[in-house]
Amino acid sequence: MTVDTSVLIIGAGPAGLTAARKLTELDIEYTLITREDRPGAYKACGGYIPSRALEEFELSKIPGAQYVRSIRMKFPSLEMKRMDFDEPVGVNVSRGDLGAALLKQIGRETERIWLNTECGQIESHGDLCKVRYTKENEIGSLSTNLVIDASGVNPVTLRFIPIRDRPTNSQMGYAVQYQLKTKKPLEIVNDFYYGSEFSPRGYAWSFSRGIEVAIGTGGLVNKVRENDKRTLSYLDELVSDTEPISTELQNAGYEIVRREAALMPLAGIVTPSCGKRVMLAGDAACHCSPITGEGIHYSMLGGQKAAEVAAKCVQKNDFSTKELSQYERLWTKSFGSDLKWGLWLQRRFLESGSSSMGSTFLNSEKSVRVIAEMLAGQRSVRSAILAAAPGYLISKLRRA
Ligand SMILES: Cc1cc2nc3c(=O)[nH]c(=O)nc-3n(C[C@H](O)[C@H](O)[C@H](O)COP(=O)(O)OP(=O)(O)OC[C@H]3O[C@@H](n4cnc5c(N)ncnc54)[C@H](O)[C@@H]3O)c2cc1C
Repeated sequence: MTVDTSVLIIGAGPAGLTAARKLTELDIEYTLITREDRPGAYKACGGYIPSRALEEFELSKIPGAQYVRSIRMKFPSLEMKRMDFDEPVGVNVSRGDLGAALLKQIGRETERIWLNTECGQIESHGDLCKVRYTKENEIGSLSTNLVIDASGVNPVTLRFIPIRDRPTNSQMGYAVQYQLKTKKPLEIVNDFYYGSEFSPRGYAWSFSRGIEVAIGTGGLVNKVRENDKRTLSYLDELVSDTEPISTELQNAGYEIVRREAALMPLAGIVTPSCGKRVMLAGDAACHCSPITGEGIHYSMLGGQKAAEVAAKCVQKNDFSTKELSQYERLWTKSFGSDLKWGLWLQRRFLESGSSSMGSTFLNSEKSVRVIAEMLAGQRSVRSAILAAAPGYLISKLRRA
């Protein structure tokens, strides 16, 4: 059976663009369609990427990237803690700059990337998938052997090919965020604010890129809905009344350049993530940390693994669910532990009240460092729990 394209990638976020880069390296023919004109430019995101992701994906030269060496954390009834690292633990970037850097890595193959193209209906038949799209007001269709759906938190394929249920409101996060511009540069430091003052049972953050700052707050959708206070009010209080960030912003002088609101999948390991000639990658597969909401690194890993399996399927001309299921094994082995233990920690930390966790985890300098390393993506979630948890938990976790 002849198809228009061997593999169709939907979405030019970190997952889709990394899948495209991998397929290019493996010399597998593909097409990527995405609705925006500039990948990443309109995505609501704090833009923090840990150093290990930059190394793994050779992303040392993202324009405008600001190295993060310091983390500040505010836990209920505790003073703000600050952790300074000798080396950068990651960078804060604008998502537009990240998108441009990821596109550049794909290099001469960019004619395979169709910008301004909206994916519509998708049908999975025994021998191919058929995808309708709209490109600059023209409607067209493409047939393909395999779809890598990297279309984000509301994956487009699930509307037509329901290989799994959508996450529930207790598995989904809702965040509001401002992108600010300041007159004078702020220190490059990432702040995490935990507790009911700052968010509806989630957390708030402020990630500085010098004269640009992403500042946001959020919580699980069910908690946001139960809450009488509007999520935006927490954000406004963060900007105007929460120390140290509010004074720093006042001193620098600022304007809000963009207001954003978005969902993030905080569900842990969600399966199945493939079947019927479709692989979900990135937010589409819930490849996002349930404890921090960070998903850029996991999405890139998800996209990379999906492309590796897609290449094998094309080479063998076997697109069976059995062959695709290698993908699920690969990504769960790579970062499933962070999603699993992140969910465990989220349930204890965010749902049962963070004050108890504050006293459990943050009772020593060592614990503060461990939590800071985890938030910065320097340490796995499991290893952070093992290093900071009291003895009775350690024996339980070692057996898990
Ligand atoms: C407020 C907020 C702050 C965050 N901060 C951080 C952070 O600091 N660090 C971090 O690591 N993560 C952060 N995240 C999470 C991170 O943004 C996501 O995990 C990550 O962007 C997921 O990448 P992705 O490629 O799977 O999806 P996305 O980046 O969402 O990309 C999806 C792509 O699919 C395209 N698309 C969607 N539907 C269609 C369609 N029908 N047709 C064509 N194209 C389509 C979109 O245009 C887009 O190009 C944050 C999330 C939020 C909401």
